[in-house]
Amino acid sequence: MLYRDVMHDSVLRRLRETFHERFDRPGVVEQARSAGQLFAGNYSPAATVHQGFGGSLIGIGVMHDLDGEIVSVGGTTWRVPVDGTPVRVGDNETIAFGVAAHGGRRHRVAVPAGLDVDGTLGAVDAYLERHHIEHEQVVCALRVEGTFRDVVLRTVAPPRYEGETLGEIIDDEVRFRFDSWAGVMIGFRFPDVSSGDTIPGLHLHGISDDRASGGHLRNMVTADVVMDLWVDELHGLRDSAKTTTSESDGNVDFARYEGPVTE
Ligand SMILES: [Zn+2]
Repeated sequence: MLYRDVMHDSVLRRLRETFHERFDRPGVVEQARSAGQLFAGNYSPAATVHQGFGGSLIGIGVMHDLDGEIVSVGGTTWRVPVDGTPVRVGDNETIAFGVAAHGGRRHRVAVPAGLDVDGTLGAVDAYLERHHIEHEQVVCALRVEGTFRDVVLRTVAPPRYEGETLGEIIDDEVRFRFDSWAGVMIGFRFPDVSSGDTIPGLHLHGISDDRASGGHLRNMVTADVVMDLWVDELHGLRDSAKTTTSESDGNVDFARYEGPVTE
């Protein structure tokens, strides 16, 4: 209910009514664990793969003990360990963090060739704006499928010592570079404003058509792609290992750890 609670302003309420008229009931996004908890170093099981992704349309996350970034498409879930080759995971394996989208109405969004990550975010936001939806008031689930160039995917390794933060681990992330790449990128456009519970902006994980590569998307340029978008609401956080709020919650440099890289 994170976003429902902050909508008190009349303009936002009007936007929301418009949104309901146009899109009927929005889909639902469920998240296991707050991002702040994860970044502070809580890699314990927050949910099983089944709890996190069962019955979902798409999902992203990271395994318990950071044993690979997660890509879940249509109920099949893979982790990408440090060697870069996706591995199917079972329902009873556990995740440290996960976000999954369940249904809603699908929208097909035109995405021209030549868009980088920021350009793709711009295409999503322009679509929302044309439909009078304020991107700070919804969560969009996204699926971008086709061919890409200049792709950089990354994954993370388990912590080397107790208490290593996710930021420290991501500073040593493993990157995989592809001049051309064919597959599906899935994920979310979350509001830019985050209390630390959610990861702001565009967040995509990919898996290639040949299932030989995948991970968290750092860079890409679209070639020939189609994008589907679902306008959703975030419903609560599930966390079976809830601990007290860390001081670092809300203080994470998400752009540095999750966004495009320059070198
Ligand atoms: Zn990610």
